[in-house]
Amino acid sequence: MGKDEVLFMLFDYSDWNKIFRSFYKLKNNFSNMEIAKWSEYLKQFYRSPPLHFVIARNDNAELCRMSGSDMEKDPSYWLATKDRRLVKFGETGLVKSIQRGEEVVIDRANAYGNFQVKQPYSLKTELDSAYEIVSSLDFNGYKEVFNWRAQRVIDRFGDYRELYDGADIIPEYNDTMSIIKISERCPRGCIYCSEPSPKGMKLYSREKIEQNIDSARRLQLKYHKGHTSLMNEGFINCSDILWFHLAKAYVTGNLRTHKLDNLIRRLSIVDVEGNVTPIGDISSKYWDTILDSVQIQDMFKSQFPELRKTGTFVGVPTVNATDYRFLEELYNKAQRINRVLIGIESFDNTESAFLGKNETSSEKIDAIQKLQGIDYKVKVIIQVGMLGKRFYYDGKWIDTEKGLEKTLRILAQVMRKSYDLRKPDKVHVSRYTLIEGTPLKRLHDEGKVIEPFAPGELDERVDRAFRQLRKSHIDVDADYEAAVEKRKRMV
Ligand code: SF4
Repeated sequence: MGKDEVLFMLFDYSDWNKIFRSFYKLKNNFSNMEIAKWSEYLKQFYRSPPLHFVIARNDNAELCRMSGSDMEKDPSYWLATKDRRLVKFGETGLVKSIQRGEEVVIDRANAYGNFQVKQPYSLKTELDSAYEIVSSLDFNGYKEVFNWRAQRVIDRFGDYRELYDGADIIPEYNDTMSIIKISERCPRGCIYCSEPSPKGMKLYSREKIEQNIDSARRLQLKYHKGHTSLMNEGFINCSDILWFHLAKAYVTGNLRTHKLDNLIRRLSIVDVEGNVTPIGDISSKYWDTILDSVQIQDMFKSQFPELRKTGTFVGVPTVNATDYRFLEELYNKAQRINRVLIGIESFDNTESAFLGKNETSSEKIDAIQKLQGIDYKVKVIIQVGMLGKRFYYDGKWIDTEKGLEKTLRILAQVMRKSYDLRKPDKVHVSRYTLIEGTPLKRLHDEGKVIEPFAPGELDERVDRAFRQLRKSHIDVDADYEAAVEKRKRMV
C-alpha cells in the first residue's frame, strides 16, 4: 500500500467502524483471489483514489473493484484507461457513468435507467466501447458480470419498467435490487403526496402478487442469470406494507385496535382481472386472497432466495397500531424484512398538521423506537423546504426554521449512530420538490399561505441539515430526492 493510500485511510474516513466494515466485506469478496497492485491509471482522476484492488488489466486499461466509505453503494467497479476514460459500473456490471477526461458524458442516478447523455455523445456508442475495453482485459475472475453490450443494457432497463409505474418511489434503487409491486396508492391524505386517491388504496390479491413476483424473477433470470447471487437486495413496493396485516386482521375479526378503522375502510382488494372489492365487502370465502405482510415476504423470498436485505415502507400510525409480536415475526431475526422506510417529514406538530400528516412527534418517536427495539434498520425520511420560509396556519405565520431545528434535535436523540457496530439507522434528507397535482403545489403556486425562500436559502437549509446530522454521527443520504426527481426514464 502506497503512502497516498495510507494517508487517505487516516484522514478521509470519518470513523473506524466504516473502515472495519469495508475491509471485512472486501476480505469476504476477495478471499480466493490473487490481489493485484493498486491502479496506476486511477491516479489520473484522483490524487488519492478510494480503497480498491485491480481485478483485470492490460497495457491500456485497468478494472478495479472499489470500496469506499459506504460499501452499501454503487458503483462497485471502475475502469480507468490510459487515454483518460473513467467508467463506473454497478455491482452487476451495468454502466453507471462514463467520464472522458474531466467531462462526464454519460450518467445515471439510480436503477431507473435514466441515463443523462451529454451532446454530441451517443449512449449506445459509449456503452459498447466501454464493454469492448472490458472484454479485452485479462481477468482474475468476475468476468461474467461484465457480459453486457449497449443494446442489452438498454433493453434491460426498458423491460424492468414493467415492475413499477412512473409514480412509484423506490429509494436507494440500485442495480442489485429486485422489486415487487404489491399495491397502489395510499388511504391517507398528506397534501404534498401524489399517492392519496379518492378511491383509497388498492391491495393486490394473492394471485396478482404471485404474478408480479413471477414477472420480477423472469426478468432477473433473463438479464442476470449468471450472477443472481449478487442481487441480494429486495424492495416491496407499496405505500405501507402494514395495511395488509391490518386489512387481514380487520376482515377476520382479529383487529386489536380500532383507531384506524376509518382508514382501513378505504382499502380494497384488486385481482388479476382488475376487479376491485372494497375491504368491507369481502366474504369469508375470499379472505385467503388477502395476504398478510409476512406471507408476502415469504413468497418473495421463496422466488428470490438470494435476498439478504429487504426493505419497504411503513407508516407511523400502522407501526403503532401493529402488535409488537407481529412486527418481530415480520423481521424474524432479519430473515424477512430488515429495513424499513418511514416518512417523518418533520417533528414539528404544527407543520405535520398543516401537511395532513396527522400524527404527533411523540407518536413518531414511539414508532421509530418500536422498530429499533426489534432491530429493524430504520430509515427516516425528512423533507426540507416543504413549507417555504414560513406558512400561515391557525391565524398566524409559522417560521419553518424552528421546525427544522426541532426535527434535527430529535433525530440526534432518537436515531442509532453511525458508530453503532450492530445497526446504524439512516436519515434520508429530501430537498422538497413540488409534485404536480398535489394540494401543496397549488398552495405554493398561489403564494398566499406559503412564503417562498429567497434564492439560495433552501440550499443552505439542506446543507445545514446534512452537516448537523453528520455532526451527530447519523448516516445520512440524499438519495430520496434522486428517487423522486430522477425516476423519469430516458432510455
Ligand atoms: S402516508 Fe406516505 S404515501 Fe400515504 S399519503 Fe402520506 S406521504 Fe403519501
